[in-house]
Amino acid sequence: MLPFTGNPLDRKAEMRVNRSWIAQRLHDPSSQILPLQQHAPLFSGNDKALQVQFLSPTLCEPLPEDACIFLGEVGGRAFFAFDMAALDVAAQNRISVLGTFQELRAAAPLLPPEELAIAAQAKALTDWHAHNRFCSRCGAATFPGAAGSKRDCPSCHTEHFPRLDPAVIMLVTNRDRCLLARNAKWTPDFFSTLAGFVEPGESLEEAVRREVYEEVGLRAGRVRYFASQPWPFPAALMLGFFAECDSDVLTLDENEIAEAHWLAKADAADLLDGRTAGRRGPAPHAIAHYLIRTWVLGQ
Ligand SMILES: [Zn+2]
Repeated sequence: MLPFTGNPLDRKAEMRVNRSWIAQRLHDPSSQILPLQQHAPLFSGNDKALQVQFLSPTLCEPLPEDACIFLGEVGGRAFFAFDMAALDVAAQNRISVLGTFQELRAAAPLLPPEELAIAAQAKALTDWHAHNRFCSRCGAATFPGAAGSKRDCPSCHTEHFPRLDPAVIMLVTNRDRCLLARNAKWTPDFFSTLAGFVEPGESLEEAVRREVYEEVGLRAGRVRYFASQPWPFPAALMLGFFAECDSDVLTLDENEIAEAHWLAKADAADLLDGRTAGRRGPAPHAIAHYLIRTWVLGQ
């Protein structure tokens, strides 16, 4: 299963609009509450293995009820998240000693899969709330609704729902070789697949073909869907594809792609497994890693 997927929580859309049910669950001693500071979740553990540090409601007193986001429920326990910015400094200091806040992207490889998926949901939602405090239609201040699953504008009555940015990410292949590139913004040793955001008015397949042509000048033939992955940095949904190309003649967009190379399967496997001197490939928690690995294994 792809990292960031496999969230075990039942999001209970029918119950999160019920304020009294949410309030009761929020104060239930069994409930699990995750604080995030500047979108970094609270963790316990060490540099070998981390756990998400959920807190009981009493440890978070006074609970910032309006800022608590209901994530869902599993095994009879409700899960919530909140942004530490909702607390005063004294309350922030009391919580800060109960674990360490760490950036989720760096912590991801050290977390159990289900906890990573829950933390990703919490990070995505607290990030979205923090950046949507004003109505995009009329400019008035907005407020959380439905236990944090939306924001409401009291002025023009528009409901705002969390947005995702769909991004296509594709492994370009030419018979028995695949194309790995280095983005001009990346470190000189890092190579990965091509990727780009889907633009208004195009299908996913059209976005794949456009990005491949823009970045490396190839016309993709068959485009085959692989899998998708939530990527809350800040709000992407990665949509993985294989894109087959008949030509191998590259014309790079030098503003975006610093270099690109065709790799045979053995060389791609070496890159993924850290056996290529001076070069590294995408980390195991990224869908790019799975795209390359799947192609190497012939699946
Ligand atoms: Zn408004």
